[in-house]
Amino acid sequence: MTSTIAPLRIHFLIVGGGLAGVAAAITLAQHGHQVTLLEAQEHFSAIGAGIQTPPNCSCILKRWGILETLIPLATSPQEMIFQQYETGKVLSRALLAPDLEEKYGAPHLNIHRGDFLRVLVDQAKRLRVQLHANSPVINIDFAAASVRTAQEIECSADVIIGADGKRSFCRMALCQQVTPSSSGKLAYRIPIKTSLLREHPDLAHLVESPKIWGWIGHNSYILCSEIVTKDILNVLITKRIEDPQFMQGPFPRSVNMEDVNEKWTHGSGKFVLIGDSAHSMGPNLVQGAAQGIEDAALLGELFANLSHHNQIPDIIEIYSKMRQKRVSAISKRSEEMGQIWNNPDTASKRAKDLGITPDPFSDPEFLGWLYRYDIFEEAAKVWEKYVKETCDRPIRGFADG
Ligand SMILES: Cc1cc2nc3c(=O)[nH]c(=O)nc-3n(C[C@H](O)[C@H](O)[C@H](O)COP(=O)(O)OP(=O)(O)OC[C@H]3O[C@@H](n4cnc5c(N)ncnc54)[C@H](O)[C@@H]3O)c2cc1C
Repeated sequence: MTSTIAPLRIHFLIVGGGLAGVAAAITLAQHGHQVTLLEAQEHFSAIGAGIQTPPNCSCILKRWGILETLIPLATSPQEMIFQQYETGKVLSRALLAPDLEEKYGAPHLNIHRGDFLRVLVDQAKRLRVQLHANSPVINIDFAAASVRTAQEIECSADVIIGADGKRSFCRMALCQQVTPSSSGKLAYRIPIKTSLLREHPDLAHLVESPKIWGWIGHNSYILCSEIVTKDILNVLITKRIEDPQFMQGPFPRSVNMEDVNEKWTHGSGKFVLIGDSAHSMGPNLVQGAAQGIEDAALLGELFANLSHHNQIPDIIEIYSKMRQKRVSAISKRSEEMGQIWNNPDTASKRAKDLGITPDPFSDPEFLGWLYRYDIFEEAAKVWEKYVKETCDRPIRGFADG
């Protein structure tokens, strides 16, 4: 695919090579910018098994020319079924394939995280992003836009993007925060060989055709989805842990899953947070990585228009205001869903009290808002407004209205 090349090309330094960081590297490089990415781990690798990419995320990947490489590696689940844990009573059913693609222009996919990241990293390499693994950033100078790694390597750029995940060093340095807060919930991920399940008469139906299965229990829920290409059923169990002793142990550790940080930028106008380092989300709406990819897409589209250095702080501010609004709304809904799914007996009443439907995946109004959001169109609109209102003169606080 062809992309607009920015009139002014600058150097970006990205801290963190997860899905959000590598996605940002791809779109910025596609628009002609120079990109250096520093990743703490020895190799670019993703923890966990499956990840679902809902239509709002798949649409962006399609536009970047990546979806066609991902599709053969992914599974397209046909249906999502939620049941009451104790009784097996079906609480809701939502059709996914081919319905979502027909309605929203791109499919809902389930893919192995390792495959997803590998495809993104390969694309970043093709675009000549400078990728450095084994480079944990341990110091950051926001005013100078420079960082130092554990190996004492100094690196500077025009803009630094913090994409270093839930336990973000960048965010802690920015907010002078010591540790992330605890949610009291833990998520366990268990990949099970589908061949083993097929042999079991009570479990074989889980892998007869690709579906997403959910069970809602007390203070806990289970989600299962098959990744056909890997021959695994990815099982996710979330559980509230009341025992404070357990939560204090070195492993496992809990962080607040629905957590939108208030501050994403630095006064220098040369730094911004994206992905989980700015906003982490639990798995309820399967939107965490999708929102990180939306962040990346918006940054890429806005910086595609860059023509003067003095527009940089404005772009960062526009980005942060636009994204905070959307991710806060999604995070709120995800958190409410967590409250509803805490107890199947009171789910309907709790949803009524909150004024929402118990199952957002069967709520066409909500899904339309979530999946039809066109980040490319939104970026074009906001840029047009910016140019009109500023006549190329930077106005801080532009995105307030
Ligand atoms: C159980 C569970 C299930 C989920 N399921 C889904 C789903 O189905 N769909 C979905 O869209 N989202 C899902 N999410 C959310 C999704 O996993 C995350 O939102 C997403 O992976 C975050 O990507 P990221 O790149 O922002 O952060 P990360 O993936 O955490 O990447 C951050 C990277 O930064 C690196 N790093 C950290 N510190 C430094 C440093 N100091 N210097 C350099 N590098 C550093 C890390 O090594 C890491 O590679 C789920 C989350 C959970 C907990």
